[in-house]
Amino acid sequence: MGGSMRSVTPGGSTPGKGFDKLPGMTARSLSHSIGLLTLLLPASVWLPAAQDARQARPTPKVGEFHVLKADLHMHTVFSDGEVWPTTRVQEAWREDLDVISISDHDDYHPFEKDVSADLARPFAIASPMAQGLGILLVPGVEITKGDIHFNALFVKEFNAFRGKELQAALAEAKRQGAFSFWNHPGWRGTAQWWPPIATAYSDKLFQGIEIVNGDSYYAEAHPWIGQYNLTIISNSDIHRPSLKAEERSLTLLFVRDKSLEGVREALDSGRTAAWQQKRLIGSEALLSSLFRAYVQTPAQIQPAAGTRTAALQLRNTSALHFDLKAVEAPKWMTVSPAQAGPLSTVLLTVRLAKDAPTTRQRVTVRLEVSNALAGPAIPLVVPIEFEYIP
Ligand SMILES: [Zn+2]
Ligand SMILES: [Zn+2]
Repeated sequence: MGGSMRSVTPGGSTPGKGFDKLPGMTARSLSHSIGLLTLLLPASVWLPAAQDARQARPTPKVGEFHVLKADLHMHTVFSDGEVWPTTRVQEAWREDLDVISISDHDDYHPFEKDVSADLARPFAIASPMAQGLGILLVPGVEITKGDIHFNALFVKEFNAFRGKELQAALAEAKRQGAFSFWNHPGWRGTAQWWPPIATAYSDKLFQGIEIVNGDSYYAEAHPWIGQYNLTIISNSDIHRPSLKAEERSLTLLFVRDKSLEGVREALDSGRTAAWQQKRLIGSEALLSSLFRAYVQTPAQIQPAAGTRTAALQLRNTSALHFDLKAVEAPKWMTVSPAQAGPLSTVLLTVRLAKDAPTTRQRVTVRLEVSNALAGPAIPLVVPIEFEYIP
């Protein structure tokens, strides 16, 4: 969705999908018609202010998969967050997210004197706006038992977890057909595979782990992804208003279908990656296909006439960052490091030795993507191939 806003006459309907379903308007038509529109629109529909704009953060398709940006853990005043549920949807729209889950605590309601503790309410309140703006809203709850927290997604009865012990609450989530993941495993110190976690795991009560929560990355928990075949999850766990899209930790979901069913299928299949500011975490296979889809490399390079220097031009078509360093190249070639920022083209300088070949060559350079982890402390390495023309 481009986020362009068309002017409509008051009461006129704009056909289309997603955001286009809502009346878009210019500041002028807004000021002329606000009175009439407030009568015509349900209270939950968000009228964008003139300065509201959606910040495009493209994550193009990777092979057959759409890459959706998801934040599956956030709070509102219905537990200990500081915003109303619809604000979470507006923020998600501005930051170009595709999927969110509002996951208020089941057993922690510091604002209960002022706000209902009914956990079905945040979803019900946010749902019409999410639908209108084309954002997938996953029904969720944060199962909060002492220092161990899990998010249960795709829940059906939001209030069924309250007052239960951890294992009973997780069993209830399973009964409801939820997808559950262990939240912020290292927030109270180094994470360990504690006995309640081991029990929950052997009872098949959870399927994912929040390896990234806000600014934290739990390196000690990273090996469990492979060891226990868990889905990688990364979220903001935001409590306050979101002010900077770039600081929000997200999960990238590789979905076949842009729908809640598609989201669920990707989670169940472990087709996810963590996106924490510049850091990416995922399987070697997913990250390398993501790199190949997002970073275009030249078919050939040729030194400028009379020089031994050529430019290797890489074009990043996504909102992701790629910090690149050549770790393997022919002996007669050195390649400078570079950082490919969002939607930018970078030049890696290629210097050729005096004994560089004088005939055309097929060349493979292995690039380390230093900010992408394909495993615990294992940076992603991708080969790129091009033709060298002397
Ligand atoms: Zn928590
Ligand atoms: Zn939380």
